[in-house]
This record gives sequence, structure tokens and C-alpha cells, in this order.
Amino acid sequence: MKKFVVERDKLAANSRRIQQKAGVPVIAVLKADGYGFGMAQMAEVLRETGIRMFAVTEPGDATKLRELGYTEEDILVMRSTAMADEAYEIVQAGAIATVGSPEAAYCLNEVAKGCGVQARAHVKIDTGMGRYGFLADQYEEIKRVYQECEGIAVTGIYTHFHSAFANEAATRAQYKQLCAIVDRLRVDGIDCGMRHAANSSGVFCYDDMMLDAVRVGSAFTGRMAAKGATGLSRIGYLESRVIELRTVPKGHTFGYGAGYVAKDATRVAVVPVGYTDGFSVEKKKDLYRSRDVLRYILAEIKNGRGRGNIYITINGQRARVMGHVGLCHVSCDVTGLDVHNGDTAILDVNPLYLSPLVPKEYV
Ligand SMILES: *Cc1c(COP(=O)(O)O)cnc(C)c1O
Repeated sequence: MKKFVVERDKLAANSRRIQQKAGVPVIAVLKADGYGFGMAQMAEVLRETGIRMFAVTEPGDATKLRELGYTEEDILVMRSTAMADEAYEIVQAGAIATVGSPEAAYCLNEVAKGCGVQARAHVKIDTGMGRYGFLADQYEEIKRVYQECEGIAVTGIYTHFHSAFANEAATRAQYKQLCAIVDRLRVDGIDCGMRHAANSSGVFCYDDMMLDAVRVGSAFTGRMAAKGATGLSRIGYLESRVIELRTVPKGHTFGYGAGYVAKDATRVAVVPVGYTDGFSVEKKKDLYRSRDVLRYILAEIKNGRGRGNIYITINGQRARVMGHVGLCHVSCDVTGLDVHNGDTAILDVNPLYLSPLVPKEYV
């Protein structure tokens, strides 16, 4: 028995908090199946809280949202693409494309004209993410998308912050590059459309870079990098139960490598959840900077992973995981705790890493 539980009311509260903090329309980013929380269920709750624009990376997700009944909402596909099949799907879905290169502009323009429509698009500026977008010095190429592509109606322009959570100077430099292009377009008599740059960290770390809209994903889930209190709560947890209780003597060992040794006689609760479900696989993947990786490694050495620095909640009490987390189970120290067979166990798992075999339940 295990399931991933998502609390609708917490998600709704996060959504309201984000919209209040942003003060401008929030484009809800639902990539990667809504950060693992389920695109369809996320969209439903977010629409109820007033979100009117979504963003995805896969053109197919725009189609899915339309099929789910999101016909009035604007859907931005954040991937610039020079592939005609992808451009075709975006146009058919009536989504807003992203144009980040002359090739992508040419492709979208031709596809739209072939369909007998004008495709909406936002121009993307690459200020350091290095994937999609015109470079800031490609001004003439950018201008051409606005002025010369009959099949494209440019309704916005944006960039993406790479270090909003960590580096204010770099973030401000990125923001400035975008604004400089907007200013040049204005001087040339071109209305750039909706300007947006801030992601979750951008919204919560700075007050002055919201522009006309913000693109927020991880903040909805309460799992984002930010300094200080955000007023958001972490949503979603993995629920399982205690399937066996045992007592082992002092000196008994736990897990592969026998990395944990019982200091005393220990009462053990076994919970059938492990790496395969996505438990305890997240930490390293969330480290972006080399100094964070270094700090993590040092902490690992100091604490000794498998020596009891991971906790889960059993029957409302904190219980330490002893030994390395196994593929399919963990052993927890419940000495002196009020724990019985069948008690509910709650584990923190980022659903991005959750096994697809574990069902999700919105409550
Ligand atoms: C993922 C993504 C976002 C949202 O980022 P969060 O930090 O999760 O809010 C915004 N814009 C683009 C282009 C993205 O790829």
C-alpha cells in the first residue's frame, strides 16, 4: 500500500500567495507533467484560483490541455523549435509559440501560412540559459520577426533567469538585456507585447522584475530555491504504512554496507518504500553550483549517509531511517515511540522522482 497524496487546499493557497506576491498575471508552468504532480489535476486547481494562462514545453501538452477543456486559456509553448511537425501541433492547438531563432521564425511562419492562420508567438531572448532564444545582439533578426513574418503575430517577449535564487547581479544583468531590447523596439515604433522574465525564485527574491507577467512552476509545489520565508507550503507526500515491528539487540547492523550500528536495543519499524519509489534520490539532483555540491559532500561525510540523517513520519512522530535506504524498504528506529503495525508512514518525496507505479491521489 502506497500512494502519493496531494493536498488541493495547500496548492490553492500557494497559488493565491503567488498571485498576491507577483501582482501581475501569473503564467502557470506545467511542464514535466506539472512537476510530477499531474498536469491535469494541477491545471484544475490553478484555474479555480484564477490562473488564466498556462505554459508547457511539449507541444503535445498544449493539445492535451485543449482536450481537457482549457479552450479559453492562453497556452504558451516555451520551446522554440525549427521542427515543422511541432510548429504544426502548436498552431493546431491555437497555442502561443516561442520563437528563439530565425529558423524557428521561418518554420512557424511557413506552417501558419500553410494552415491559413496567423500564429501567435512570444520572442525568446537567451540571456544565459543557453538553450532557446535570440542572443541580445541579434536585434535586427528579432525586429524582423515582429515586422516581416506575415504568418506570425508576436504578442510577447521574454527571457529566463538562470540564477535568480543565488546571484542577484547576474539576474539583474539578464533583466537589463531584455529591457534594452524592449526599449529599442519601442524606439523603432514596435509594441513588444507582454514582457516576462521572472520564474519562481525571481518572484520571491525580488520585487521589481515582475514586468507584465511572471512564469511560475515550482513555487506552486512549495519546492523552490528562495531566501527566507515565502509563505508557501510544500505540497504532496508519499504515504505508506508500517508492515512489521521487530526488536534487535545493541550492536546490530542495518542496510547494505552495515552503515548503521544500533547503539542500544532498538525497536525497528519496516516501511516498504525505497529508492524505487523515488525516496531519497532527490538531493544531489537539486544542487546546481559547485560550492553546493561541495557542501553536500562534506555534510555527507560528516553525518554519514545511512547513519541516520534521514527521517520519516510514523503515526505523527519523527522516526530516523537506519542504514542506507534500500531499493524497496527502509528500517526506522521507533524505540520509545507509539507505533503499531499498520500505522501510517509519511515520506517526503519529490514527485518528479516518484515511480510511475505509485498512484497519485488529490485530496
Ligand atoms: C521551468 C521554467 C519556468 C518555471 O520555473 P520555476 O523556477 O519552476 O518557477 C519558467 N520559464 C521557463 C522558460 C521554464 O523553463
